[in-house]
Amino acid sequence: PATVVLAATPIGNTSDASPRLMALLERADIVAAEDTRRLYDLANRLGVRVGGRVVAYHDHNEHEKADGLIDEAEAGATVLVVSDAGMPTINDPGLAVVRRAIERGVAVTCAPGPSAVLDALALSGLPTDRFCYEGFVPRRHAERLQRLRMLKGEERTIVLYETPHRIAATMDDLEEVFGPDRRMALCRELTKDFEEIRRGDIRTIHQGVVDDPPRGEIVLVLAGASPQEAAEAFPTAADPDDLAALAA
Ligand code: SAM
Repeated sequence: PATVVLAATPIGNTSDASPRLMALLERADIVAAEDTRRLYDLANRLGVRVGGRVVAYHDHNEHEKADGLIDEAEAGATVLVVSDAGMPTINDPGLAVVRRAIERGVAVTCAPGPSAVLDALALSGLPTDRFCYEGFVPRRHAERLQRLRMLKGEERTIVLYETPHRIAATMDDLEEVFGPDRRMALCRELTKDFEEIRRGDIRTIHQGVVDDPPRGEIVLVLAGASPQEAAEAFPTAADPDDLAALAA
């Protein structure tokens, strides 16, 4: 059957690779990889031989490449899609091929596994029953502030991806927008030897970033707004009576 398979790869600890990922690396006819060198490096560490043809499939060519990959799947090939780390499509290439598979009626499935979003959320100690994933906040200061202000009244736990270069600027803005007391967690180097989770209020984590700048890969998890903070951020949604009054 015509099949596209997305597969998650380790986000730091090679042992997190699933037996299913390893079998797919060996058996897929085509492996579409974000970075072909990193793919071979992973395969070497896992001790598996990549059996199929390897093609580069990254942010800059995914739209052009997607149809060709679906053509191959339609012709009977198993097409494996992997990114450098974690789950394809989550701030990584993959969405274009999923969309084209759906549009063209080709089966698409997933061999799930590590992703920094859920790892950080679960370790944060913050509510996990409702959360939203915001990826990377914008690089430019004005846009970043605007994005964060839009999240001020968000009641769900918020997950952000970050880099060591920008963490200090992002913490300045988090404290400015959300104030010093909101709970948060800074999760770094997840699954690796130097994994570290800093938990506390924004003020404390911010000061820690200044005193001891975190290196490596970072996920920030921010507590959602309290009902009162949400009501202040979205005044008209707070009280049904207010809405009735507005509608009258
Ligand atoms: N597809 C990946 C996933 O499923 O998590 C995300 C890829 S995105 C380009 C890279 C970002 O993910 C990093 O900047 C960091 O925010 C986060 N990340 C990936 N691996 C991580 C790790 N081991 N520890 C902490 N954050 C990580």
